[in-house]
Amino acid sequence: MKSYTTKNQSVAEVVRKRVCCGCGACTVVCPTSCIEFVYGNRFNYPKVDTEQCIRCGKCLKVCPSAFLLKGNDPGYPCLTEQKDLNCYLAHSPSDEVRLDASSGGGITGLILHLMKKGQADGAIVARCQGKEPWIARSFIATTREQLLSARASKYAPVSSCVTLVEVLKRPGRYVLVGTPCMIEGLAKLQEQLPKLKERIVLTVGLVCAGMASRQSTIAFLQRYGVNLDKAYKIVYRGGGWPGYFRVFDEKGKIILKKPLLGGSLDLVVPGDHYLRCWNCLDHWARFADIAVSDPWCDEMVDNETKGWSGIMVRTKSGQHAIDSSISEGDMVAKKVSAEQMYGYNKHLIITSTHPRHAWMALYQLIFFGRLKGLKSVLSSLIRKKGIGLLTTLRARFDQNYYENESVRKRLLRVQPGVTEHLRKRSEIAHNKYESVQK
Ligand SMILES: Cc1cc2nc3c(=O)[nH]c(=O)nc-3n(C[C@H](O)[C@H](O)[C@H](O)COP(=O)(O)OP(=O)(O)OC[C@H]3O[C@@H](n4cnc5c(N)ncnc54)[C@H](O)[C@@H]3O)c2cc1C
Ligand code: SF4
Ligand code: SF4
Ligand code: SF4
Repeated sequence: MKSYTTKNQSVAEVVRKRVCCGCGACTVVCPTSCIEFVYGNRFNYPKVDTEQCIRCGKCLKVCPSAFLLKGNDPGYPCLTEQKDLNCYLAHSPSDEVRLDASSGGGITGLILHLMKKGQADGAIVARCQGKEPWIARSFIATTREQLLSARASKYAPVSSCVTLVEVLKRPGRYVLVGTPCMIEGLAKLQEQLPKLKERIVLTVGLVCAGMASRQSTIAFLQRYGVNLDKAYKIVYRGGGWPGYFRVFDEKGKIILKKPLLGGSLDLVVPGDHYLRCWNCLDHWARFADIAVSDPWCDEMVDNETKGWSGIMVRTKSGQHAIDSSISEGDMVAKKVSAEQMYGYNKHLIITSTHPRHAWMALYQLIFFGRLKGLKSVLSSLIRKKGIGLLTTLRARFDQNYYENESVRKRLLRVQPGVTEHLRKRSEIAHNKYESVQK
């Protein structure tokens, strides 16, 4: 795996150039513990104490965003060439697990199976619960109850690798669930700290279109008049498929409920991404043992109310875990082809002609004055695919990029793209969910 170090530099440079994705891998490897990890108003990021930093460059070696400093394409092979992967549509056989998960509860069901078999002691997962529930916290879940409380996607900054510091301090073997950049951070860490290879027995990557800022969630709460002091738990999915965005108070009473489709998906999810996401070439978690997604297709959107997890197996350990779970009745699964799986999320297939390469070149141009991608930037702008331009320009001149609360005002002005048909699908799913709960 390529690592990118620059003499006398630390990840402070990644933060300065605004491309940190907040994975937290740098905090695990720093020999002087001079990195403070900040859960900023808008994004998570590391703060390097330059007095204590010995400029060893170890943090840059594990940073999944450092390649952008050098202007190099990480050289990932084209994904559509990987056609021989085993793929499944799957779900947990238990409605208790499935209905409040994101897709089909495939991930939660799989972890529960590995814990039952004694193959894992728990998992690094995330939840938005407690004081300031808009801060998604990564933690080690070791019980069924904790795993269930962490179900469903967090469309908000999560820093999974920070939790590896704790993993290294305690015994046991764990599953790590995270977005593709977190899994890449872990893979780089495992090269530097081999102990982490024994401690993390399986990695589950969440196929990922982008990570929305904390401000996107807060703006959504404010749009609907939620009293922030009353909010105790935020759940972005669940309540059937495709599910609801819900906010609970401390007693478990729902204080806001909006459908995902035609509602929160349009406002929270694409609201305000990390700049790093505009420069991302790995949405399918190529470093994970398995990658999991939603099967977005007309048939599912029109008919499905409980949900399926789209599972793509990448390694032998991944296959072993899936086979064992299916054979013991802990996962219901049917095989689909890799082409079908990619087809559910066509927008995330990054080929060599995808405009994302031009956005990366645009980033290089705006932040470093590197002209080598100028031709592709211009042709992308001519084809009106230059939508990364404004985000990149704003980031370039925003001195307060990771903390900027004024972004929220802009988000509050965005109108939801309400689609009556999709709103109805969410409602049908939810009625079914309520009848199952009774
Ligand atoms: C930011 C983001 C963007 C996504 N974009 C897409 C997309 O464009 N297309 C698509 O098909 N699928 C996308 N997904 C994946 C999808 O939403 C589901 O997470 C996935 O299908 C798993 O569903 P499940 O029911 O099997 O998982 P569940 O059984 O619900 O378990 C999900 C697990 O993931 C953990 N988790 C959730 N969010 C995070 C996070 N941000 N960081 C670390 N751990 C987390 C939870 O704690 C839980 O343990 C995205 C997920 C995220 C977090
Ligand atoms: S360069 Fe070394 S000492 Fe400085 S922050 Fe990075 S890992 Fe820590
Ligand atoms: S991307 Fe991860 S490793 Fe790189 S600076 Fe940000 S938190 Fe640290
Ligand atoms: S889009 Fe890429 S960089 Fe952004 S959160 Fe997802 S995997 Fe990470």
